[in-house]
Amino acid sequence: SPRVLSGIQPTAGSFHLGNYLGAVRQWVALQETHDAFYMLADLHAITVAQDPAELRANTRLAAAQLLASGLDPDRCTLFVQSHVPEHAQLAWVMNCLTGFGEASRMTQFKDKSARQGADRASVGLFTYPVLQVADILLYQAHEVPVGEDQRQHIELTRDLADRFNGRFGPTFTVPKPYILKETAKIYDFQDPTVKMSKSASTPKGLINLLDDPKATAKKVKSAVTDTDTVIRYDVENKPGVSNLLTVHSTLTGASVTELEERYAGKGYGALKTDLAEIMVGFVTPFKERTQQYLDDPETLDSILAKGAEKARAVAAETLALAYERVGFLPAK
Ligand code: ATP
Ligand code: MG
Repeated sequence: SPRVLSGIQPTAGSFHLGNYLGAVRQWVALQETHDAFYMLADLHAITVAQDPAELRANTRLAAAQLLASGLDPDRCTLFVQSHVPEHAQLAWVMNCLTGFGEASRMTQFKDKSARQGADRASVGLFTYPVLQVADILLYQAHEVPVGEDQRQHIELTRDLADRFNGRFGPTFTVPKPYILKETAKIYDFQDPTVKMSKSASTPKGLINLLDDPKATAKKVKSAVTDTDTVIRYDVENKPGVSNLLTVHSTLTGASVTELEERYAGKGYGALKTDLAEIMVGFVTPFKERTQQYLDDPETLDSILAKGAEKARAVAAETLALAYERVGFLPAK
């Protein structure tokens, strides 16, 4: 069956609503139809300053949240990126094929380095999109389920796969992005013109799945909308309301058109109150399931150990082929 690869950074402890709706929810569905590889991208997590103890704890916490979301270690391969050294090894090769200007055009790098102050940003942050290229190509993934913010990195992956294949002979599968239109970009609840983000959102704008459900309900009720009163899906003119409709629709299965009809003549308050309740209903069992996995770190670690073993088998094969293609002398 076709293969998918995706990852999430074990940075800030909790996943946010954008991570879940934009990515993880699709991962759960795709494990049924695809040969699925999902990684905790800890190599990516150190592109910005991090606390070692926190990173370790957050890596387990991210694994627990993925399992709580419905990833099944019998149906997919769940692993920690640093357990598979081939990622860093192939990244070097891909770095050598990437133009400096090409890497400089990555908007995620530009945004993130601007936020840190250009001279404080690390070289690792600069080349992390190329590491992502290696992440994907190592597994010969056909599709990469991600949010809209990652589209440019998938384009880069396609370009570099083509470049490598063209220069050294067919080696890598050229992957396609798998981005669902409806949930490709979940917006910040305080500034509905920018994406919800672990690193850039303010606490009030960020809906973290592991927050106290009461606090989450409050944030939903105080989401920024507009001065109009009509509940209508219109991202351009009504970004806040549209974002709430997207979240409501994806969590309940009701279509946006159905919701527009249901809330016709009612104010934003009604939509927010209902959505707050829906969110509480969603996060409460999610938090409980996450805690159950955390309470059993041995099981968690053994899932990750098995995942790493399966991942390495595939990654080692691809790396060996790539090394041979570029002309490295085999170590005998
Ligand atoms: P950071 O801001 O530090 O980059 P992040 O919030 O983007 O963190 P990641 O771990 O980088 O989180 O991303 C994990 C996955 O979640 C990626 O596939 C990404 O595209 C997706 N994602 C992140 N934010 C959103 C969002 N607001 N809407 C939809 N998908 C999102
Ligand atoms: Mg991100």
